[in-house]
Amino acid sequence: MLVGVPKEIKNQESRVGLTPASVKELTLRGHKVMVQKNAGAAIGLADAMYAAAGAMMIDTAEEIFAKAEMIVKVKEPQPQECAMLRENQILYTYLHLAPDPEQTAALVKSGAVCIAYETITGPNGGLPLLAPMSEVAGRMSIQAGAAHLEKSKGGMGLLLGGVPGVAPGHIAIIGAGVVGTNALQMAIGIGARVTIIDKNVDRLRQLDLAFGNRVTTLYSNAASIEETVLDADLVIGGVLVPGAAAPKLVTKDMISKMKQGAVVVDVAIDQGGCFETSHATTHEKPTYVVDGVVHYCVANMPGAVARTSTFALNNATIQHAVALADRGWKAAMANPHLKAGLNVCQGNVTYEAVARDLGYPY
Ligand code: NAD
Repeated sequence: MLVGVPKEIKNQESRVGLTPASVKELTLRGHKVMVQKNAGAAIGLADAMYAAAGAMMIDTAEEIFAKAEMIVKVKEPQPQECAMLRENQILYTYLHLAPDPEQTAALVKSGAVCIAYETITGPNGGLPLLAPMSEVAGRMSIQAGAAHLEKSKGGMGLLLGGVPGVAPGHIAIIGAGVVGTNALQMAIGIGARVTIIDKNVDRLRQLDLAFGNRVTTLYSNAASIEETVLDADLVIGGVLVPGAAAPKLVTKDMISKMKQGAVVVDVAIDQGGCFETSHATTHEKPTYVVDGVVHYCVANMPGAVARTSTFALNNATIQHAVALADRGWKAAMANPHLKAGLNVCQGNVTYEAVARDLGYPY
């Protein structure tokens, strides 16, 4: 199959659909891969590395969209990319269609076969192509929180690990899923005192077994959240109720009673956020202050560590990219987990929740 990797054009996006190692996986199997010049340059993946992996380096996205049988990307196609998609061409990328009627209409119009990373399921449950970005955001949340506790960033001037003779800081993590568990590992590593809160007691049991007395686990309710948040120096929000907006677990009133110069990192901001005072921010201006509490609410945290994110994403996406290239999309759909990723196919919306939310027949 002829596979194409255009350079990402969404604002501030430096990730790339395939790493040189992933290109090699495909070329070793006899496939041809076109990569747009400079597609990975911003994250140290030079054109020479792609060429060494067997890629053809192409000047323009137009040529790639015109010739490739499968386009592999990271972000949802921008309007000018949608316009270049062709009938029966495979598009393999994050799409996030439910809140995006314009993109959905453009993909329907294109007649392309559009497979969304975020709805592909895994044999052990979960969403394995979404999990790596939650791992990245969870780990990054502690790094971002630690940086913003410094005076120059608006924080109270606290070192989370403390020093001999000075107590460490207290990190509260709400939500013990992929984000929360990765935040927990970093929080313990940095030497902080850590409390993690979830509604799922089985999950808390697992964490208790894994981390013992290095973590306090608490069942989630308004009282446990208030008590913990008021004592914390850094609060991480990582809850998810699948298919729904994040519940506002930390109220404006609780924020107003927190320590001055404390920091909250609302990772769940892409689902509306779990702090009542949250609104989405960007990497250019990641924080704002409410009642003396620094709020970090960047909706695309993995973009800041685009190199790590690209490798983590490729580890999860390459298996299905190879299957699609080897077998063609129709035969590859025999895998029900990949089929769960098919959102738009040859002019029809084929993912029930998207069809329902946007009023397409299903
Ligand atoms: P997950 O499903 O693995 O974990 C969510 C956890 O929240 C579960 O353990 C669940 O039991 C818990 N939960 C649900 N309701 C709760 C409540 N009332 N109190 C306490 N816990 C509750 O999800 P995840 O992969 O960890 O993702 C968490 C959020 O982070 C999602 O909204 C995801 O989209 C978002 N995310 C954001 C970024 C970013 O850049 N901002 C990056 C990756 C993921």
